Amino acid sequence: MQQLELIPNLVVNSAGLAAQALTKRFHGINHRVIPPSHYARGCYFMLSGSRGPPFDHLVYPIPEEGGLGVHFTVDLTGQVKFGPDVEWIDGVDDISSFLNRFDYVVNPKRAEKFYPEIRKYYPELKDESLEPGYSGIRPKLSGPKQPPADFVIQGGESHGVHGLVNLFGIESPGFTSSLAIAEHIATRFLK
Ligand SMILES: Cc1cc2nc3c(=O)[nH]c(=O)nc-3n(C[C@H](O)[C@H](O)[C@H](O)COP(=O)(O)OP(=O)(O)OC[C@H]3O[C@@H](n4cnc5c(N)ncnc54)[C@H](O)[C@@H]3O)c2cc1C
Repeated sequence: MQQLELIPNLVVNSAGLAAQALTKRFHGINHRVIPPSHYARGCYFMLSGSRGPPFDHLVYPIPEEGGLGVHFTVDLTGQVKFGPDVEWIDGVDDISSFLNRFDYVVNPKRAEKFYPEIRKYYPELKDESLEPGYSGIRPKLSGPKQPPADFVIQGGESHGVHGLVNLFGIESPGFTSSLAIAEHIATRFLK
C-alpha cells in the first residue's frame, strides 16, 4: 500500500472534546501546559404540539453556572427548542474522549428541571408539553464551582512543538467565533 506523507507548515489541533487527548500523542509536547479537561453535557427539549412559537424573538435568561441558561430558540423549520442545561460528566478518561465515547442520550427525566426554568419567562408552558430533543457535550477548561475559563490557543512557544497550534476549551460561542479564531491563528502563526 502506498503511503501519503504530508509536510504542512502548520497543524491546527481543533479536535474539540479530544483536543487534550490528541495533544498528549504529539512527540516533544510539554505535558505541563496541557489544561485539564472537563465535560458538560447540554440537553435540549422540544415543544410538542402544532402551535406556533410563543415568542417572535430569542429569549436568554440570566446565565447559570457552566452555561448560558435554558434559553428559547426556534430552528429553521419553526421547531421550538429550550436548552441547553448543564450536566457535568465525571470520570472521562483519555481514551474515551479520544474516541468520543460519550453518551448523547437525553434523559426524559431532565424535563423536570426544565419546566420551572422555562416558566420563569414563559409561565403559560403546559405540563407534558416538552419532548426530549438532542444533546451536545462542551469541552470545558473549568470544572464545577470554578470561574469560567476562556478559549486557549497554544503555539509552539508554550508547548514546545513549532508548527503545531492547539485549541482547547472551544465551547460556546466557538462556532460564532470560528472565523475570528481562524484569522487570529493565520495572523499569529502563518508568517
Ligand atoms: C450544547 C451546545 C450548544 C452550543 N451552542 C453554541 C451556540 O449557540 N453558538 C456557538 O457559537 N457555539 C455553540 N456551541 C459551541 C460550538 O458547538 C463549538 O464551539 C464548536 O463546535 C467548536 O468547533 P471545533 O471545530 O473546535 O470542535 P468540534 O466541532 O468539536 O469538532 C472537532 C472535530 O474533530 C474531530 N476529531 C476529534 N478527534 C479526532 C482525531 N483524533 N482525528 C480526527 N478528527 C478528530 C471530531 O470528530 C470533530 O468532528 C455549542 C456547543 C454545545 C455542546
